[in-house]
Amino acid sequence: DYKQGGYHRVQVGDSFHDGRYVVEAKMGWGYFSTVWLANDTLMKRHVALKIVKSDPHFCKSALEEIELLEQAQTAGNGSHQHVAQLLHHFWHDAGAAGGGGKHVCMVFEVLGESLLSLMKRFNYRGLPVNMVKRITRQVLDGLAFLHDTCGIVHTDIKPENILICIPDVEDYLEKQKRPSQPRRFSSSSTLLLDSPATTPVSDSSGRRLVKRKMKRQQKRTEDPPLGGKQKSTNNLQQIQSTLSSLSLAVPLDSSSSSSSSTTASLPTIIRSSALDCTALMDDTDDPDNQADDEAWHDRITVKIVDLGNACRIDGNFKHVIQTRQYRSPEVIIGMIWNDRADIWSLGCLVFELLTGDYLFDPRADTKYGKDDDHLAKIIELMRVLPRSLIIGGDYSREFFNQKGELRHAKTLRHRRLRDVLHDTYFMPPEQADGISDFLSPMLEVDMTKRASANTLLKHGWLDL
Ligand code: ADP
Ligand code: MG
Repeated sequence: DYKQGGYHRVQVGDSFHDGRYVVEAKMGWGYFSTVWLANDTLMKRHVALKIVKSDPHFCKSALEEIELLEQAQTAGNGSHQHVAQLLHHFWHDAGAAGGGGKHVCMVFEVLGESLLSLMKRFNYRGLPVNMVKRITRQVLDGLAFLHDTCGIVHTDIKPENILICIPDVEDYLEKQKRPSQPRRFSSSSTLLLDSPATTPVSDSSGRRLVKRKMKRQQKRTEDPPLGGKQKSTNNLQQIQSTLSSLSLAVPLDSSSSSSSSTTASLPTIIRSSALDCTALMDDTDDPDNQADDEAWHDRITVKIVDLGNACRIDGNFKHVIQTRQYRSPEVIIGMIWNDRADIWSLGCLVFELLTGDYLFDPRADTKYGKDDDHLAKIIELMRVLPRSLIIGGDYSREFFNQKGELRHAKTLRHRRLRDVLHDTYFMPPEQADGISDFLSPMLEVDMTKRASANTLLKHGWLDL
């Protein structure tokens, strides 16, 4: 991955843009890039430095990302509160020592951990419903801005691309660096993030489920190989690990959890805010905790990141977009897609936030491919596909016979979304109905009938 055309080898202490940005720790990575905590010595603040792979294909998409981010900033008269703000960008020539190649670098405000880490923190048992409502409202707000104001489709809405904001980065980092400061939050987050499968849970069937889910989810969060030099960054990696979990003094709120019947007794329940993260508690049932929990939910703010695959809405595109589990039916069958593809992904994401499980996790078999299984799973939940989908895509004939039935698929087992929520996730009927009512217009298979972000913002389910 660090070979020519790949990620840039970065070492803590490396500087970029004539010494302006000095790298302090690694914060994340994606298919296109690695992202680093850096000190902006000119502006005297910390920033997130995204260093894109050097292959021309990645450079091109990075330049497109910059163009779209700048367009969004112009359209929004500056920044939008739920879309990450680009502060600066430049080229970095790695030179022979750095493996060669030129890398596009983007500078963003520092954000905290992703929704994937947040779900992990809740042992993939689902987040409290009110927290999901807050997050969903904000992501919809960000999408309404991208879609309607900027004319941009994100095309890769998924938990990894929604990050939690840090209230005061400098203050937080200052506290973490102070040696006298107890590091209890830091070590607890390391415990949760580094050895998730060992986190105790309350019942044995739950434990099996959690382990299976964690194994699955670990697969997609595996770090790319570190460059040799980076192995000496342990002390700063501690800051990074804290930072990546930052803003996350997460209390498990058993009272409002969607899966309260199986809420685990986690060893690390933290009742205070991120900026006061010294109190590690194991008292989910303590009624005194509830107020704090609510307060924490109130403060959560998220931003959409990674416009690396974003496109203009009017582009008449047909190419394959979206990460598999969040891929919309029109994309699978090869139709022209638009901004509603993001809404489908968000519908899948909201289900996952509530339950800890993918809504659709297609598998290939000897008799059918992943796309066949994906369409089968969608039909199982939605019952029928509109004629436009069955005949209208470039690949429709590969998937459907003349009767409009799937050519290659296992026997279908139809289930209603509200029944899945009720029967599999033990949600009370009213709650299952409410969620299903909100998700159905997002998961409308006919994209021309799928709700827009703006319409969904008015949905009553989002009220707290
Ligand atoms: P890619 O295009 O390679 O997927 P992303 O923009 O998604 O790149 O960034 C990769 C990862 O880096 C994210 O999933 C996140 O963990 C981390 N990251 C990205 N932007 C920031 C930021 N502004 N602050 C903190 N971490 C970030
Ligand atoms: Mg990404």
